[in-house]
Amino acid sequence: MTLNTLLTGARGESQRKASERVDLLVLGGTIVTMNEARQVIEDGGIAVKGGRIVAIGVRDEIRKKYWSRRTLDGAGDTIIPGLINGHSHVPMTLFRGLADDLDLQEWLTKYIFPAEAKNVTEEFVRVGTRLGLAEMIRGGTTTYCDMYYFEDAIAEETAKAGVRGVLGETILDFPAPDNKTNAEAMAYVERFVKRWQGHELIVPAIAPHAPYTNSEEHLKAARAFSDRTGAPIVTHISETKREVDESIAAKGASPVAYLDRIGFLGPRVIAAHVVWPTSEDFGILKRTGVGIVHNPQSNMKLAAGVAPVPKMLAEGLLVGLGTDGAASNNDLNMWEEMDSAAKLHKVFSGDPKVMTAQQSFELATIRGAEALHLEQDIGSLEVGKRADLVIVERDSLNQIPRYNLYSDLVYATKASHVRTVVINGRVVMQNRRLLTLNERAIKAEARVFRERILKSLSDLAAPE
Ligand SMILES: [Zn+2]
Repeated sequence: MTLNTLLTGARGESQRKASERVDLLVLGGTIVTMNEARQVIEDGGIAVKGGRIVAIGVRDEIRKKYWSRRTLDGAGDTIIPGLINGHSHVPMTLFRGLADDLDLQEWLTKYIFPAEAKNVTEEFVRVGTRLGLAEMIRGGTTTYCDMYYFEDAIAEETAKAGVRGVLGETILDFPAPDNKTNAEAMAYVERFVKRWQGHELIVPAIAPHAPYTNSEEHLKAARAFSDRTGAPIVTHISETKREVDESIAAKGASPVAYLDRIGFLGPRVIAAHVVWPTSEDFGILKRTGVGIVHNPQSNMKLAAGVAPVPKMLAEGLLVGLGTDGAASNNDLNMWEEMDSAAKLHKVFSGDPKVMTAQQSFELATIRGAEALHLEQDIGSLEVGKRADLVIVERDSLNQIPRYNLYSDLVYATKASHVRTVVINGRVVMQNRRLLTLNERAIKAEARVFRERILKSLSDLAAPE
């Protein structure tokens, strides 16, 4: 051994000692932080330890200060915060395309409710959840907010797949596939919340379906439960004009004003839709700190209307973005949702400046985190936050020659450009290979359910 190699070896060792060992490094690529300054770091690096981001900066600095046995190469790609799907009914992937091109009432009462009554079991929920989780991971969604039945099984599947979820067990005034009475549902949600609270991926929630499917007493009980346990409340508010008109006729107030009057609203509430707020509702939503989730594709498909999102943003309301269930969308693709959100508000207002690509991207990231009341942990790539990040290809034919980052992301990038996904510091997809879910098995199981569902509906349609 020469003196030279001895010295180099010693220097290498001392540098290794001086640097801190972390669980994961992401090196290279353009990092879109979505921090307060909306900083973009070229040739960046991220160090991850214990599921959180411990450092973020330019690649060379990060490489000097940290080392890891596991490094992801982001060179030439874009690294973004994991996308946040603020509203879904994930097992409904199994009803994808079952009944389309109908209005909400007909769709619900003629198809979805009967199909659910006949088919939704714990097994159905598990299979549909796995299908939805695989689709979401492939599309770079790292957090989703859900409302369905057997939510405890959804939480198990979600935790196993390594995905983050705000998961709400549905409460309704009529018998549901899992719980037949309100008392049963409240007992279920009590056990469910106790089991999952404090989990690093799962935030258990209570989900009274809507103000028109729950009595005042049951809505108040849901709010009291949330006050006692700290669990978020997931619900639907003012999805259709008809809902608002009927509320005004029956209760003398819009759904938002009615819910405020009975003390239901507050900073733990996550409300999907809010397509038809009255002018008075804006002040109420702001004062109570309700998170709102805009679902442009679902609202367009069911012709529910256009939520006044630009006005909501101008008034400082908390707004995120969601897909809604796959039966009314028909996918769980947040890239399409971002693209649709920007374009819908342009055409609806006649003003192409009313919603920019960057604003749309914010709805799916940092603003989406605010709408779920999780902005301390997710929504941007910053030191101290959970390591939920996505490596996205940015060199495909339909993405070049690259002038404007946010335009490229919102108007040209597709879910298929997502290469690698990290959630809570764990790699759940690497170079398009799912690491926590078995894609082939998921497809086979979904096909079995297709046959069962079709048979159940043809049995229903057959004369007695
Ligand atoms: Zn919904």
